[in-house]
Amino acid sequence: THFGFETVPAEHKARRVRGVFDSVAQRYDIMNDLMSMGLHRIWKAYTVRVANVQLGDRVLDIAGGTGDLALAFAPLVGEHGMVVHTDINAAMLGQGRNRLVNQGVVLPTALCDAQHLPFPDESFDLVTVSFGLRNMTDKDQALREMTRVLRPGGRLMVLEFSQVAQPLRKPYDLYSFHILPRLGRWVANDEASYRYLAESIRMHPDQATLKAMMKQAGLGHVDCHNLSAGVVALHVGIKC
Ligand code: SAM
Repeated sequence: THFGFETVPAEHKARRVRGVFDSVAQRYDIMNDLMSMGLHRIWKAYTVRVANVQLGDRVLDIAGGTGDLALAFAPLVGEHGMVVHTDINAAMLGQGRNRLVNQGVVLPTALCDAQHLPFPDESFDLVTVSFGLRNMTDKDQALREMTRVLRPGGRLMVLEFSQVAQPLRKPYDLYSFHILPRLGRWVANDEASYRYLAESIRMHPDQATLKAMMKQAGLGHVDCHNLSAGVVALHVGIKC
């Protein structure tokens, strides 16, 4: 196909995603900085600002990986609030836990699949998922689960790659399909994982589609903030 897309059967996707994150866990943070040229820090900082977390809030970070968002939220919730750091992948979660502990932050963690969350209905004020939804096999099911665990009036924030503005498409494709896999090979000796990254970005629903999916999952109002010309979008949905 045009960009070497493959259609990955659903049952293979979960295994493949696990393989990707097992193999990148060690070098995940440095690769993030390198590949996004540091921009992921700005996208996450923006997310934290929009989240406007208050003392006492209960926050659930899904697919939290090495813990960037959890670490940012931890000091904001105070002693009566909580931040729960979760991921489906033990290597990523472990990497995150070590990193947080090294900074003196100990958070409750859960090894869990976003498509089947082990939390009661309406238990969080804020649910976040940053660069995680794209990897999930059944995104609608995952969005329904995230909505289920939110209290009425609570918010779901999805930070994810999205559809870049038309004039940037050519250079962006060049970067993603030629430069990115080479960086993956040179820096992490892992071209395949970074080729998967570029492909999964192109397969992911665009801004309008994701907004519709979030409404379908039961969120009443959804706002979309384009960041870096749509390379990334932050979707914020409110549970009615
Ligand atoms: N949120 C972190 C960040 O923004 O740096 C990590 C993002 S990393 C690109 C994607 C994470 O999604 C991985 O840690 C992976 O294990 C996790 N993941 C993939 N599928 C998942 C699922 N079904 N449920 C929960 N986490 C999942």
